[in-house]
Amino acid sequence: MHNAAFRVLGLDWAFVAFEVAPGQAAAAIGAVRALGIEGLSVTMPHKTDAAAACDRLTDAAAALGAVNVVVREAGGAVVGDNTDGLGFLASLADEGFDPAGRRCVVLGAGGAARAVVRALAGAGAAEVVVVNRTPARGGVAAAAASPVGRVGTAADVAGAHLVVNATPLGMLGDPRLPVDPELLGPGQVVADLVYDPTVTPLLAAAAARGAAAVGGLGMLVHQAALAFRLWTGQDPPLDVMAAAARAQLEGR
Ligand code: NAP
Repeated sequence: MHNAAFRVLGLDWAFVAFEVAPGQAAAAIGAVRALGIEGLSVTMPHKTDAAAACDRLTDAAAALGAVNVVVREAGGAVVGDNTDGLGFLASLADEGFDPAGRRCVVLGAGGAARAVVRALAGAGAAEVVVVNRTPARGGVAAAAASPVGRVGTAADVAGAHLVVNATPLGMLGDPRLPVDPELLGPGQVVADLVYDPTVTPLLAAAAARGAAAVGGLGMLVHQAALAFRLWTGQDPPLDVMAAAARAQLEGR
């Protein structure tokens, strides 16, 4: 995505992947300082450790205790941000869905779920219900949507305007659904954070029951596009980035 965007804008930048062993996030952030790297995308399992290693965090990253983007400022300070929540909201906006005043259910309570829960509350959702396998973790995630967050059960899904899968169920050939599809129907939007496959078993079941289905690729592209803007200060070429991501996934 990023290299396609650099190419089309004629920017002399390169995005490369470094495999970083668990526990080495602080050393990797040190390399940003030492080598003058302009920024990083951070993924599992480093998002929490990276937050601890940055010089400063944005409000989103501080609230979530997790960083998915690192930016080296002109003065050299290394700033941690988190664009997952805004990326998710942008993917909903692409589909014409505004969470303001709506009842939302988020399945899962991990890092991605917390970012989504916080973003939905920030966008004015009427309520954000977290349904998680481990209820105690669900409570922590629901607190990110205070005062409209609460822990719920699968029964809450039937009355929701928006249902979000933030568990890994359905990823890479996993046939499992995170919720009974009988609870889904017309008038609902069902969003899956899983982006590989682009149409997950949940999205297929939701569409078959008349719900609108939103895949995770949009969030992936938008969170990256927000990072691109932070690094380069330029408008990200969204169509180019989306096409590159889709080509990569479909070429597997
Ligand atoms: P995570 O921190 O490991 O959290 C996973 C969550 O799923 C936990 O709440 C866990 O429940 C639940 N879960 C795991 N296995 C389960 C099972 N068998 N049954 C029921 N619940 C289960 O993961 P994450 O970083 O939040 O990522 C979650 C998903 O979002 C992944 O598929 C990831 O690829 C995707 N994601 C997509 C984007 C995007 O841009 N589209 C961005 C970030 C993440 P417990 O609390 O009970 O363990």
